[in-house]
Amino acid sequence: MEQPKLFMRLKQEVMESGDCTRCGLCVGLCPYIKTLDERIAFIHDCGREDGNCYRICPRTPSDWPEFDRQVFGQEREDHSLGHYMEVLYARSLDKDIAQASQYGGVVSCLASYLVESGVSQAAILTKADNYGPPKPFIARTREEILSCAGSNYSASPTLAILNDGVRQGLDNLVTVGRPCQILAIRKMQGLREVPEHNLSARKVNFCIGLFCFWSLETEVYAFLQAKTGGKTIKKMDIPLNYAVVTTEEGEVQIPVDELRSFIRPTCQRCFDPTAEFADVSVGSTEDDPEWNTLIIRSLRGQEVVKKALAAGILETKPYPSERLPLLRSAVLNKKRRVLDGAVKDKGYGYWGLSPEYSKGIEEGGEER
Ligand SMILES: Cc1cc2nc3c(=O)[nH]c(=O)nc-3n(C[C@H](O)[C@H](O)[C@H](O)COP(=O)(O)OP(=O)(O)OC[C@H]3O[C@@H](n4cnc5c(N)ncnc54)[C@H](O)[C@@H]3O)c2cc1C
Repeated sequence: MEQPKLFMRLKQEVMESGDCTRCGLCVGLCPYIKTLDERIAFIHDCGREDGNCYRICPRTPSDWPEFDRQVFGQEREDHSLGHYMEVLYARSLDKDIAQASQYGGVVSCLASYLVESGVSQAAILTKADNYGPPKPFIARTREEILSCAGSNYSASPTLAILNDGVRQGLDNLVTVGRPCQILAIRKMQGLREVPEHNLSARKVNFCIGLFCFWSLETEVYAFLQAKTGGKTIKKMDIPLNYAVVTTEEGEVQIPVDELRSFIRPTCQRCFDPTAEFADVSVGSTEDDPEWNTLIIRSLRGQEVVKKALAAGILETKPYPSERLPLLRSAVLNKKRRVLDGAVKDKGYGYWGLSPEYSKGIEEGGEER
């Protein structure tokens, strides 16, 4: 039987099935894919035989060993955290950033270092003026990066603005994204035989990946408003069993169980909670909110962290040895839940896990 065209497969297999991660990279790649708030859809069928929109999507078949080779020049030894050089605690020494940021401000600090030092021309970020659905944002200065600090837990299609920025002539961009967004960038960077002007991701010169075990549907913002009595929300954090929502008048705690119905179903099918294809990945420590967990993955990531340390804007300390097994098992458990569920329905091949990678996840991977 003839296969549907690739755009139709994206529409049916990803968008209409509810599997779209809302990374945003297909938006504007062709004139028929648009966003409405955080949703992404075709506004018209596309006549093209080819379909890079399908190939770059983080929810279409992805050859994981190949991406490891593409990004790091080798396959992974660790099936929990993916390829990495070092795991550390880190925080920004820039006081404004430390104060405005979600945790230790490592993301804003590194993005700011890259832009201010001229290594990157701008940063592709996500910004919320009020605590509502954030919008993609191109930040060209430290102040603009600072204005994007903090986490909004919905799935903003940030990468839509990467395509816009590149069309406007921007080059050398640092991009901050959820794991699915970093995967989309790597998929586009790996495309061969495609005209350069169609490959906005090749203008990304540094990827900062956020840890992300799930994102929430946009409807969560109305729920939070109701829970806080309509007060202005300044920040939300989800330490473990409670979400802590900080309003202008104090904190409101919401049991995580009340948020579960807002978790996006596609996140239950993701087995990359630590952004394994980023240059560096950044998350909480679950231990000390003034610090971040920083995973240095690539040589480029290592070099940028070294320079930020030398510039006196970043500080690091060893990752507590007793905590590393906790992080690794939290990630492995998430991956196993995914493999036991939805992914097994479609088979490992669909997700591009080699037999070694699937075995590594199921058996725990090699300890370092
Ligand atoms: C949807 C989501 C789920 C997350 N889940 C986890 C988790 O389970 N465990 C964990 O340890 N950490 C998680 N994080 C990461 C965590 O919230 C912090 O972003 C990270 O630790 C960096 O902290 P920081 O102080 O360096 O960030 P900051 O310096 O404050 O910078 C935060 C950056 O995040 C970007 N951002 C904000 N909202 C979004 C969004 N919706 N999509 C993409 N980028 C965004 C902003 O552009 C900003 O540059 C999640 C983040 C998001 C967005």
